[in-house]
Amino acid sequence: LEPLYSLMIRVRVPGGVASAAQWTRMDELADQYGNGTLKLTTRQAFQLHGVLKRNLKKTIQGFNEALLDSIAGCGDVNRNVMFNPNPHQSRVHEQVYEVSRQISAHLTPRTSAYWELWLDGESKYSSAPNEGEEDAEPIYGKTYLPRKFKIALAVPPHNDTDIFANDLGLIAIEENGRLLGFNVAVGGGMGMTFGMPETYPRLASLIGFVPAEKVVDVCEKVVTIQRDWGNRENRKFSRLKYTLDRVGLDVFKAELDRRLGFALEPVRAYEFKSSGDAFGWSQGPDGAHHLTLFVEGGRVADRPGHQLKTALREIAAFHRGDFRLTGNQNLILANVAPTDRLTIEAILAKYGVAVATSSGLRRGALACVALNTCSLAFAEAERYIPQLIDRLEPILAAHHLTHDDILIRMTGCPNGCARPYLGEIGLVGRAVGRYNLYLGAAFNGERMNKLYKEMLDEDGIVAELTPLFADYAQHRQPQERFGDFMIRQGYVQATTSGLTFHE
Ligand code: SF4
Repeated sequence: LEPLYSLMIRVRVPGGVASAAQWTRMDELADQYGNGTLKLTTRQAFQLHGVLKRNLKKTIQGFNEALLDSIAGCGDVNRNVMFNPNPHQSRVHEQVYEVSRQISAHLTPRTSAYWELWLDGESKYSSAPNEGEEDAEPIYGKTYLPRKFKIALAVPPHNDTDIFANDLGLIAIEENGRLLGFNVAVGGGMGMTFGMPETYPRLASLIGFVPAEKVVDVCEKVVTIQRDWGNRENRKFSRLKYTLDRVGLDVFKAELDRRLGFALEPVRAYEFKSSGDAFGWSQGPDGAHHLTLFVEGGRVADRPGHQLKTALREIAAFHRGDFRLTGNQNLILANVAPTDRLTIEAILAKYGVAVATSSGLRRGALACVALNTCSLAFAEAERYIPQLIDRLEPILAAHHLTHDDILIRMTGCPNGCARPYLGEIGLVGRAVGRYNLYLGAAFNGERMNKLYKEMLDEDGIVAELTPLFADYAQHRQPQERFGDFMIRQGYVQATTSGLTFHE
């Protein structure tokens, strides 16, 4: 008899865009084979938790029926390509979304193993290999990549996909509503290992600008350099960020230009103002309505007085637009017909679902799954952070900071899945109930934080943050962000590169 193994399965959703039918299918599969909840991840993917091993195949076949898959949801290949989840926000968003789909399709592994293993060689999915098609991997080759690879795109001024946390970040540059191309940033990654200072989180470095029609080629060539130059002996050092710091940015860029057959142009001007989501209703240039909903911890579940999962299932039954997963674990009901607005609002109200919370700290919070789901976790994150915020909110209220957006991010280990080193308040689990506290990241995702205190329990976290909130409330300058204030007041030094993260 085999133990009753249960697993997590991640479903790839390029750009985070799922149809109402796909949402309905995921909802059903969560009930049928998972633990009855859906997790919206920080990379715009779905996760099903608690799937028993004997049900894996049926679950994956269920994805396939809805034209979804888990290919490249894991493994040493390019993962889910992230992009601002609402293409209807502007014409440029629409164009960039198409680019993100092209990149995703171009870098999807060609192997037919997935279809053979899980779908008995049959697929409803149009990109499945045809019968008899060669199983060769033109980009990944026989050895694939040394480690996972992550790509994100963003349209300034919103850095809502945290592009600098990715191996490859692309910043859209537009002119009068027309997409010109992208600034290219390489070598970001959040993971590190405690007790190994030679491992570190790093933000991607800007290396140039590429016209839109050549960006897929740039992605391919960056991936192939990492394939050929990445460290295959020690997985702790196998991400692109270590390759870059080993060979130097100039050498990497020269090799990229050589493989491309042309040189990247100089970086173009851009400005990011935020990395969070804007909640509530918005309207695109085509008049369509969109609703960004707060989903605490990215967990779509029914709880007493807050039946989010049921509400979304009812909405999916008539909603003609899409469900869009944001990189901040929230959800956009996009392309809502004007006649459906009131119905959606009524359903949300009926099930106790508020569009957003009034607390700026809570609405910007990110947390990975951590205990008891992730086997790498040392500490709680998703299940615990609401309770910590419950204790911090009255302190913020006492200092009239309730409505101020402050980014707090928590993970159960230093691997950094919820990008904790980009939190103005970063909490990284060291042991059950103990966290390292990091401060000083930039609100727009362009500067990492720095270690402030170690091994704090909840009382310790609250005791450390209380005077910082008080100081911020009294002495901040107009529009000054909490992370910037921490540096100006000297609580921590600004982190200027991955190599100086631990200093
Ligand atoms: Fe697991 Fe660590 Fe990632 Fe959290 S950050 S999901 S604990 S690996």
